Parts: sequence; structure tokens; C-alpha cells
Amino acid sequence: MSFENLGLAPALLSAVQEAGFTTPTAVQAAAIPQALAGHDLMVSSQTGSGKTAAFMLPALHRIAQHPANKGVGVQVLVLTPTRELALQVATACETYSKQLPGVGVVAVYGGAPMGPQLKALRQGAQILVATPGRLCDHLRRDEKLLATVQRLVLDEADEMLKLGFMDDLEVIFEALPESRQTVLFSATLPASIRGIAERHLKQPKHVKIAAKTQTV
Ligand code: AMP
Repeated sequence: MSFENLGLAPALLSAVQEAGFTTPTAVQAAAIPQALAGHDLMVSSQTGSGKTAAFMLPALHRIAQHPANKGVGVQVLVLTPTRELALQVATACETYSKQLPGVGVVAVYGGAPMGPQLKALRQGAQILVATPGRLCDHLRRDEKLLATVQRLVLDEADEMLKLGFMDDLEVIFEALPESRQTVLFSATLPASIRGIAERHLKQPKHVKIAAKTQTV
């Protein structure tokens, strides 16, 4: 399996090559074609499996195919449990979108002032990476913030629930269009996560990756 077989746009293939990736990881090989086909996904995979590229590359592929003008609003929302992961995902997104001019990413998270985050959002990023609590603060100021989202990613969903974000997640689901694609990544799949999948995912495909196939 090579990245060329996955159906990704040339601009993404060269970004992946520049990042030094030669072969897709197991989660990338399994999840990228399913995500490109438009399915909702429930993926059990660990940190270190290459999961960030597994959800970010298909999301960027869609933006590359329909070059979004600035100002159309947020198209991709990635929720993460922590500020650290939000920043890490936003950095990965910048790496993979290097050759997609006009594509912007904004990270919003707690423990930092709202002002610069509001300013960055107003500048029209298509990709928003957020922790649930701070995103709800932004939603209280602008209830239409998520009205244009086409793709939702829940990254480390089990960690988000452990940190008590269940209620915030429900508020966020309410603010999202029904017609979106939803991709859920979680290291474990307890009943609470399966409940979210039942309520908020549409006929999800399940992708399960054995722990031994991790990158270093
Ligand atoms: P993640 O599980 O997304 O946190 O990724 C773990 C690490 O693996 C990151 O440092 C990535 O840059 C790296 N990585 C992701 N995909 C690949 C790949 N296909 N080949 C080599 N390294 C990768």
C-alpha cells in the first residue's frame, strides 16, 4: 500500500512526501479511503498510530477539490480533549496544507485570551481545532459559528468524556448541520462512546487497528 493508492490530491501527496512519510500506517490505509468515500467512521486507534493524518488528509482533500474562498466559514471542526493536542493537530494541519494556498487553520482552547482567537476566526479559517469548553464559549457569542461545518472529527473521544466534556459535546452537536460527515477516533470504546456514535453518527463504518502497528 502506498499513499498514491489512497486517492489523495497531488498537493497532499507532495506534502506527505515532504514530511518524510513513505508508507501509510495501518489506520491511514484503512480510514482514508473510507473517509474519502464520505462514510461516518468509528476508529479505535492509539496515539502514535498516525491517526492525525488519517483524519486530516481526507478533510484537506475535500477542501483542495473545492477550493474554498476565504470567508465561507468553518468547514472542518476537529475536537480534542486538551490544548496540547489541539496545538499539535493544528501544526500537523499546517504541514499537510502547505501546498494548498488560502487554506487556514485556527486553534481555540481554554487558558488563553478570547480576543486573538475571535480575530483569527473572523479572518475566515476553513479548519477549526478546538477543545469543547472553549468552543462553547465561542458559540455563546456566535451561535452560527458552526453552521457551515461539513466534517466533524472527534479526536481522543474517550479522553474528552473522561475530562467531563459530555455536556459541551451535546451543545456542539446541536450547533452542527445534520448533513455533516462525522469521524470519531478513540483509544477505547466504552458504552458512553458507543452511545455518542449511536446518537450522532450515521451508519458508521468501524475501523479497528491493533496496537502493535504503531509508528514510533
Ligand atoms: P499521531 O498518531 O497522529 O499522533 O502520529 C504519530 C507520529 O507519526 C507523528 O509524529 C506523525 O508525524 C508520524 N506519522 C504519521 N503518519 C506517518 C507515516 N505514514 N509514516 C511515518 N510517520 C508517520
